[in-house]
Amino acid sequence: MLRIHGVGGYEEVGRNMTCIEIDDEALILDMGLYMDRFVALQEKKIKMNREILLNEDAIPNDNVIKSIKKKIRAIVISHAHLDHVGAVKWMAPNYECPIVTTPYTAEYIKRTARIKNKIIRVNVNSSYKISKKLEIEFINVTHSIPQSTMVRISTPYGDILYGLDYKNDNHPMLGRKTNIKRLRELDNVILLIADSTNADVEGKTFSEAIAREMLKDILFSLEMEENGLFLTTFSSHIARQKTMLKLIKDIGREAVFIGRSLYDYIESAEKLKLIDFSSHAKLIKNARDAEKLLNEMNKKKNEYAFIVTGGMGEKDAILSQIANDELALKISPQDIVIFSSAVIPTPTIQANRKILEQKLHRKKARIFKDVHVSGHGSREDLRDLIKIVSPQHILAAHGDMNKCASLATLANEMGYILGKNVHLMQNGQTLKI
Ligand SMILES: [Zn+2]
Repeated sequence: MLRIHGVGGYEEVGRNMTCIEIDDEALILDMGLYMDRFVALQEKKIKMNREILLNEDAIPNDNVIKSIKKKIRAIVISHAHLDHVGAVKWMAPNYECPIVTTPYTAEYIKRTARIKNKIIRVNVNSSYKISKKLEIEFINVTHSIPQSTMVRISTPYGDILYGLDYKNDNHPMLGRKTNIKRLRELDNVILLIADSTNADVEGKTFSEAIAREMLKDILFSLEMEENGLFLTTFSSHIARQKTMLKLIKDIGREAVFIGRSLYDYIESAEKLKLIDFSSHAKLIKNARDAEKLLNEMNKKKNEYAFIVTGGMGEKDAILSQIANDELALKISPQDIVIFSSAVIPTPTIQANRKILEQKLHRKKARIFKDVHVSGHGSREDLRDLIKIVSPQHILAAHGDMNKCASLATLANEMGYILGKNVHLMQNGQTLKI
């Protein structure tokens, strides 16, 4: 008996959580935040707890698996993005089982969540036996954070491939390529749980190497001798930051990373020796504790490039603080602001970002937007994945109804039939195979 419980992420981009029930055992895949609701709560400055987050739909509602709680053997986390790992802090203590994840994600959990669950570290491209009947394997994929994986769950009925958050990047700037060889070897995939985030985007998602060329094109062609240079990207996007660091060096400036979330992700990566930013750049965790230093830097902005948090317009992040004149570091007319990210398309985040851009315009900054490539494969990448894996069934996940329907339409083009072997679910529903 195989049951798939869609706990979260089947009606929105984020809040990912799926439970796989196999006879008398079960395991949980991911425990993520719905960032839009989480950011909205942060702004209200409410002291958060599990109940508030649940009532506001910021974390998955695990009621659907309440009756099988005793069966759950492990919480498996695919990668360290908050929409996959951010709810661990609030939800994992309710489960008496270990968390199984890659070393980088484990480091991030350890740093950001105080929980008693045992954390088991398993390298990418390695397997781990959870019980007599259950084994998982972390298959390395390219995405936009170190050590991202697809999770293969081997069951007595065949393999389940949890394939969220992946792209097929042949020129990653950090880490290894997607392990296509291993994916090709899988010959008994009963179910693919597929990433629908970009299923509605035609074509292929370009390599991280393209983002580097975009940044290079801007940084090497601008007249900016005396002007300040501010860049922002996702705090977790270590590969992009590595590119920025190199290019900033090439134009003869010194990189300064500012912001707590940047600091957390960078420190986790440094601890595992994936990168070494601190020998080549300044890292400032708390801007308010570094007023004197920032004041000095503000007097000779042409010597530095500032990589800051706040690309989504988060009100407490560094870029908003600078735009609000709350720090010693200022934005002057003609200073350059590069957004090396896309705006997460949810209401609170879009509104915040718009407000930030208006403030930057009032300061007469030169603004560069969408200097970015996505970490999620587009429609044709997803088609290739389905070809490579040839799953018997496909379940669309990590998207709202429109995005999941796009994935189902793609599968339909490839011969799958809706309701028979390609499936759509809502949060709280269960699929039997
Ligand atoms: Zn992700």
